[in-house]
Amino acid sequence: MTGDATVDGAGQGRGGDWLAGRGAVVTGGGRGIGSAVADALVGAGAGVVVAARSTEEIEMVAERLGATGARVHAVPCDVSDEVSVAKMADRARELLGAVDILVNNAGISGSAPFLRVRVGDWEAMHRVNATGPLLVTQALLPGMLERGWGRIVNVASVVGLKGARYISSYASSKHALLGMTRCLADELAGTGVTVNSVCPGYVDTPMTTRNILRIAEATGRDAAAVRRGLEEMQPGGRFVSPGEVAQAVLSFLPEAAASLQGSELVVRGGSTGPG
Ligand code: NAP
Repeated sequence: MTGDATVDGAGQGRGGDWLAGRGAVVTGGGRGIGSAVADALVGAGAGVVVAARSTEEIEMVAERLGATGARVHAVPCDVSDEVSVAKMADRARELLGAVDILVNNAGISGSAPFLRVRVGDWEAMHRVNATGPLLVTQALLPGMLERGWGRIVNVASVVGLKGARYISSYASSKHALLGMTRCLADELAGTGVTVNSVCPGYVDTPMTTRNILRIAEATGRDAAAVRRGLEEMQPGGRFVSPGEVAQAVLSFLPEAAASLQGSELVVRGGSTGPG
């Protein structure tokens, strides 16, 4: 993974420029929720760096959004690797001038019955889902504190707030992320920088498609039937869309959201609830 791609356009306006002049980093911005968040940030006028491991995917997002005239840059990064994070943060500052907004969205998932949880999988999940946001936040927070303004939004999950069968590693990594968010929120009180979380239920993304295929393979059921079954279990009878999660992320960004600190926004069409 070398280099980065930059796509600069003429203007940023796509229906409201309330984030004009702001620079944002979205980790895991190459597909799914991260790509939708980049889209929403660009729509609000922000300059955006999308960061993930798959260079091709982030470059495609940068090209797609750059074609609308937005300032979007693809910068490769593995959030679990300190050196990679430091390089991405330097490049993001160079490209955007300053990073005012950070969306810690990169994540991986997996499942196993508790007695079959492998330490390696457990550690990998925590490394990306919890240590990743720690590293990226540590790299970008000092600049926000210097300028006295910043918005950090962590993409956790409803299973950061409750348990569920077969996802000990994933759920505990999201619990860790929420715990970190709450502690940091208390440290940031009065600084002008806020940190909050969104907690989606099932979202219609490549991650969910992969999970469905895994369940289908493990149970011998048809993937379409597994999908339908999971959708029916959701409060609204459907998966949340990536765009709906993106709108929840955006709700933490306005000036008027300055007192939202350490809070969790559940996005699942119902309460945290069962299912
Ligand atoms: P996705 O479709 O698999 O996309 C995940 C993104 O994260 C990709 O861009 C991926 O790119 C990136 N990523 C993974 N590991 C990374 C690493 N080590 N360094 C940098 N980037 C990395 O997943 P999604 O559904 O959009 O999920 C996004 C976030 O929402 C995750 O944190 C997930 O846990 C959370 N979430 C998802 C759901 C759901 O139902 N889908 C529900 C609740 C919460 P590369 O692989 O190229 O690096």
